[in-house]
Amino acid sequence: MKVQRILPTEESAELLGLVREIAAGELAPRVADFEAAHEFPREIVRTLGKAGLLSLPYPEEYGGGGQPYEVYLQALEEIAYHWFAVAEAVNVHNLACFGTATYGTRAQREELLPDMLGGELLGAYCLSEAEAGSDVASLSTQVVREEDGYRITGTKSWVTHAGHADFYNVFGRTGGPGARGLSCLVVPGSAPGLVVHAKERKLGVWSSPTAQVGFEDVRVPAQRLIGREGKGFLIAMGALDCGRLGIAACAVGIAQAAADYAVRYAKERRQFGQRVISFQGVGFMLADMATQIAAARALTLAAARLKDAGRPYSLEAAKAKLFATDMAMKVTTDAVQVLGGAGYVADHPVERWMREAKLLQIVEGTNQIQRMVISQGLG
Ligand SMILES: Cc1cc2nc3c(=O)[nH]c(=O)nc-3n(C[C@H](O)[C@H](O)[C@H](O)COP(=O)(O)OP(=O)(O)OC[C@H]3O[C@@H](n4cnc5c(N)ncnc54)[C@H](O)[C@@H]3O)c2cc1C
Repeated sequence: MKVQRILPTEESAELLGLVREIAAGELAPRVADFEAAHEFPREIVRTLGKAGLLSLPYPEEYGGGGQPYEVYLQALEEIAYHWFAVAEAVNVHNLACFGTATYGTRAQREELLPDMLGGELLGAYCLSEAEAGSDVASLSTQVVREEDGYRITGTKSWVTHAGHADFYNVFGRTGGPGARGLSCLVVPGSAPGLVVHAKERKLGVWSSPTAQVGFEDVRVPAQRLIGREGKGFLIAMGALDCGRLGIAACAVGIAQAAADYAVRYAKERRQFGQRVISFQGVGFMLADMATQIAAARALTLAAARLKDAGRPYSLEAAKAKLFATDMAMKVTTDAVQVLGGAGYVADHPVERWMREAKLLQIVEGTNQIQRMVISQGLG
C-alpha cells in the first residue's frame, strides 16, 4: 500500500510504521488459513492487545494509547488491509469499551478500564436483537433492579466475539418503551446464565465468530450499570458514531488491498499481445478505484479530525460510513472484474474482499439508516 499519510506527530508516524510492520509480518501470512478454518485468531488479537493496539484511542491514564482518532483510524485501515476480521475485532472491542470510558463514573473507570484496555481482555457489543435491528430502541431484553444489583433476561443477536469475549457490553430495558427506557451494563463472559448459541454460517469474515447470546437471569452487581438508568440509547449511539468511523476505515483498507492486487494483476496479465492494464477499459476502472478510495479516506479522516477537535461529528461519521462502504463494495467488485475468471476463485483474495465489503454496508447501521440519519440532519 503506497499511501501518502499526513500524521500529527513523529510519534504517530512511528506508530503507523509499527502497525504496518506487524500487519504485513504477522497478520498477512495467516489470514487465508484462519479464514479457511473458520477460526478466530484469539492469540493474535491478544498479541495486538499487548502491543497496545486494541486501545489506541483511549486515555493513557487508564492504560489506553492516548492517540487521536485520525491516528487510530489509519492504524485500523492498515490492519484491515491485511486481515479485516482482526480489524473488526479491534473496532468491536473499542465499541465495547466506549460506554465505560465515556460515561463510567471515576470509580468504574478506575476499576474496569485498566483491564479492558490492558490488552488481555476482549469485549463484545450486544445491542441487536432478532426483532430489533435497525430499530434498536424497540429492543426487549429486560433488566430488572434487585436488592443487590440487576437481573438480565433476553437474547442478543449477531454478537461478534460471542463465546470468546471476556466482557459483554449489554443494552437492555430498565424502563418503559422506547429509547428512554434503555440502560447499559457490563457483564463478564463468565457470568452464570450467559449462554452462547451456535455460530452463524456467514457469507464471509469467517475468522470472526458471530452468534446469538442468551442472558438467562444473568445477575450483575449494581456497579456494572454504566451511566444512569435510561442512558443506554445515548451510550449505544455514541459508541456507534465512533464505530462507524472504524467501519469506514476498514472499508478503505479492504478497498485499497483489492485495488493494489488488481493493479499488480493487470500489469502482469497479457491478452491480445498486451498487458491488460493498457486497455483503456481496464485502466480507467483502476483509475476510478484509486480515486474513490482516496475520496473515502479523506472523508473519513475529515470526520475523525472533527471528533478530535471536540466538534459534533455524527453526521460526518454517517457520511463517511455510507460513502466508504459503498465505495468498498464497488471497488472490490471491480477488482474481481479486473482479474476475470481468476477473480472468481479462492486462489486470489479478491473474492474474499468482495464478500467482506458486503458486510460493511450492513453493520453499525445499514447504509439505508445512514442515509436516513444524513437526510434528517440536512438544512
Ligand atoms: C456479521 C455480523 C456481525 C454483527 N455484529 C454485531 C455486534 O457485534 N453487535 C450488534 O449489536 N450487532 C451486530 N450486528 C447486527 C447489525 O448491526 C444489524 O444486522 C444491522 O443493524 C441491521 O439490522 P437487521 O439485520 O435486523 O436488519 P433490519 O433492521 O431488519 O433491516 C432490513 C432491511 O430494511 C432496511 N431498513 C430498516 N429500517 C429502515 C428505515 N427506517 N428506512 C429505510 N430502510 C430501512 C435495512 O436497511 C435493511 O435493508 C452484526 C451483523 C452481522 C451480519
